Amino acid sequence: MSDGEKNAARFGCLTCPSVILLAGVGTLVKTEFKLPLATKTSKDEDEETEFVTKSWLIPDMFQFENVGFSKTVGNYKYLVCADCEIGPIGWHCIDSKESYVADQRVKHME
Ligand SMILES: [Zn+2]
Repeated sequence: MSDGEKNAARFGCLTCPSVILLAGVGTLVKTEFKLPLATKTSKDEDEETEFVTKSWLIPDMFQFENVGFSKTVGNYKYLVCADCEIGPIGWHCIDSKESYVADQRVKHME
C-alpha cells in the first residue's frame, strides 16, 4: 500500500450487489478515524467502534455511484449503502466536503 494510489477495483457493498465506487476514483490515504461497527440500523448511542486506518478519499459526493447518508455526528455524516443501508461504510466531512470510504467496509470487485 502506498499513499496516493488509486483504487484499482470497483468497490461494492458487502451485503448487496450495489456498486458504490468505480475504479480509479478514490485515492488511498492513511486515516485515524473511529467508526462505529457496521450494522443495519443502529440507533444505539453506545455503539462499538473500530479504528479505520486505510481509507479512500473521494473529493466530491457526485463521484459515488451509490451512497447515502445516515446520521450526523459533529462535523461528520456517516455514509451508508444507498440500497440496503448497511453502514457506516465511511464518512463525509461537512466542512471540507470530502468523503472517505473505509477499505474494510467495502467489497473489492473484479
Ligand atoms: Zn448494500
